Amino acid sequence: MKKIVIANFKMNKTPSETKQYLISFLSKYEDCKADLIFALPYTSLAVANFMLEGRQIALGAQDVCEDDEKGCTGQISGKMLAGSGVSYVLVGHSERRAKFKEDSKMINRKIKNGLKNRLSIILCVGESLADKNTMKTLATLKNQIEEALKGLYENELENIIIAYEPVWAIGSGKTPLPKDIENAVKAIRKVVEEDFSQKAANEIRIVYGGSINAKNVSKFATIEGLDGILVGGASLDSNLFLQIINAMV
Ligand code: PEP
Repeated sequence: MKKIVIANFKMNKTPSETKQYLISFLSKYEDCKADLIFALPYTSLAVANFMLEGRQIALGAQDVCEDDEKGCTGQISGKMLAGSGVSYVLVGHSERRAKFKEDSKMINRKIKNGLKNRLSIILCVGESLADKNTMKTLATLKNQIEEALKGLYENELENIIIAYEPVWAIGSGKTPLPKDIENAVKAIRKVVEEDFSQKAANEIRIVYGGSINAKNVSKFATIEGLDGILVGGASLDSNLFLQIINAMV
């Protein structure tokens, strides 16, 4: 199985900066190395969709509205994303949970809306520093996953990737020990087994995200049960991101 590598540009790059980045990146990247997804700001989706035409690289968005038809000035629906060449969407990123008060019910509705519009979901979950310090990591993961996946059919899980992203690791330069990531991955599979089935638990794809860079990436390449990585800040430099991908495949 190819490793999944997801770039999350967060709130970075104008459309012309994204274009320059992709010109440089695509001149050096061999398709098919990884299952590669660029999760970009809305404003860069059109240019990226044009530039990725014919390449085996998927386009992702960083959020989706939970409704399709209500008055939602300023929001972007799943239908609009799907019509813009997007096939993946991040849901439940910790920055959105914290800054935009996205709760588990909203996250569940966003997932359902994305799936309804044939988007695949990258569901972000992870413990806070306080959870970690009080040994509540696994309980937090269980709660976040159960709430997010409530009411889904088992066959819909093939369109879901779970991104384990400890809140304290995002953008901090700190990363968990490989053993701790392995334990979190096992715990996530256990929750899926309890709520769905052993088969679903074995098959659900799980990636790790949080302060991955070109220097530390190799330690994430061999973690048992881990299907790939999600890279924020270090994906913004095309050369560094290529090094990261090369270290994973
Ligand atoms: C993220 O924002 O999802 C992320 C993984 O960020 P960083 O790699 O910068 O920690």
